[in-house]
Parts: sequence; C-alpha cells; structure tokens
Amino acid sequence: MKHSGNNCETGDPGSAASQTYHSGPAVLTDFDDTAAVQNVAELLLQRFGHPGWQDVRQRFRDGLMTLKEYQEITFREIQADSPTMERYVKENANFRPHFRELWRYCQGNRIPMAIISQGLDFYIEALLEKEGLPGIPVYAVNTRFTPQGITYQYNHTHPGKEELGNSKGLVVDQFRQQGHYVFFAGDGSSDLEAAVRADIVFAHRTLARQCSEQNIPFREFTDFGDMFQAVRSFSQNGSKP
Ligand SMILES: [Mg+2]
Repeated sequence: MKHSGNNCETGDPGSAASQTYHSGPAVLTDFDDTAAVQNVAELLLQRFGHPGWQDVRQRFRDGLMTLKEYQEITFREIQADSPTMERYVKENANFRPHFRELWRYCQGNRIPMAIISQGLDFYIEALLEKEGLPGIPVYAVNTRFTPQGITYQYNHTHPGKEELGNSKGLVVDQFRQQGHYVFFAGDGSSDLEAAVRADIVFAHRTLARQCSEQNIPFREFTDFGDMFQAVRSFSQNGSKP
C-alpha cells in the first residue's frame, strides 16, 4: 500500500497492509502552516527577529544549514520575552477550520490526536491555550527561557541524527508500532518522512508536490473537514477509508 521507495527504517514497505490496526486510528498533524493557518515561527521572526533572519532562512533553504540550526540561530537573536511572544501569537494566529471539531471527536472516541512539529513548544502551546485546547499532546522542541537566552531540548530524535532535530517519522513509527492506523496532515519538507510512514496522508504546498513527485498517495489538504470525515468513517466502520 505504501510507496515502495520510502526511506522507512523500521519496517518493510508491505508492513502497512499487513497491520491489524487493533488500536484504531490516531491523528497526527504538523503545526506551522497546517494546524495553524500561519507559519507562527515566521510570524514571530517577522515581528521580533533580527533584521537578518531572512538571510539565515535562505541559507537553510539553500541546504547550507539544518532546520535546527536555522531555528536556534534566528530565535537566539530575539530580544522579546516569552509572555510578549505568546501574547503576539494569541493576537495574530489561529487554527484552520474543523481542527476543534476533529479534536472533540477524537477525545469523545478515545482516539489519540497530537501535534508533531519541528518548531518550538511555547508558541504552539500559546495558540492551544488561546483556543481553550491545552490538552492536546505536542511533540515539538522543548524550550526554556533563561536569563542567558532560550535553551532547546530535542526528545524525538533518531539516534545518531540528533543534529537534524526532532523526527516526525519517529513519532509516526511510535503510533504505528502501537497498532494505530495513522492519519497525518502536513505541508513541508520535514513532513515527508512522516508522510512515507503514515497510513493516510493529507498534504498541501511543498509536501503535496513532493508526494506527487515520489508517487506517495495523498489527499489534498485545505482544512480539517475532510480529515475529520475520514477519521469518523474509519472509526465507525472499523475499516480503512
Ligand atoms: Mg508546516
């Protein structure tokens, strides 16, 4: 069922078809530009970042540095404190339509749902708090604000690949190993390793293009409405959508 050219390190390409999904569905979504309408990291950098942050981003886009380096360098230059940035997120960011309904449905039906992001926990949690949804698990970079600046902790890295930051593929693997049929939504290059492992992919932007190029099946993502219908259908019928 899965694209045979994937880079999955934990199973053979046929493992998806042979799984029983005894644990039911699980819903995982990227945050910036997917769960959130905005790229919240860039929103903060545009408002509070060093004027040269876009040059650093270009070096990252040119493949000259990792996302981890790009993020740590640009956020290191920010002078604003966390309450100021959290307030800005709450005033300027929002979730895509049907995100809340999907979360409520998952909660009511004991379906795990989580945000998986290579971004920073504090701005994700600020938006969840604004929306009154603080219970959603977040797999992101754990930050601490200290007098010396922000410290970063990466708890979801591949052994030996810590320099790449958190791995979304690793998180998808964990849910699949627990017997879940994984729904995943994302938009960017860092979502590709999750997309090749997930059982059903909702993609837009760069991820949709990359999935097309690599023959990875996906459904077009615009908001969480279609994903909600697909999760409900899977949950009620006990079969793949
Ligand atoms: Mg994204």
